[in-house]
Amino acid sequence: MRPPMKLQVGDVVELRKPHACGGKVWRIIRVGADIGALCLTCQRYVLLPRSRFESRIKRFMDQGGPVTDPSVEKCA
Ligand SMILES: [Zn+2]
Repeated sequence: MRPPMKLQVGDVVELRKPHACGGKVWRIIRVGADIGALCLTCQRYVLLPRSRFESRIKRFMDQGGPVTDPSVEKCA
């Protein structure tokens, strides 16, 4: 079993199959039952069912969201 993917808005991923424009790198714009992603090559936006999108991911290139340092997370 593969571990569940933690997709976040702002993540940049490389997909296995190239887009129609030839680009493979996408930025995640929306996360939910469907994943909205922007092709960084042609700037087109697509919406795909989450399971389908996840199965197409080859690798993460960049983790989005706010960059939090675990060591400073607990500042009570
Ligand atoms: Zn494209």
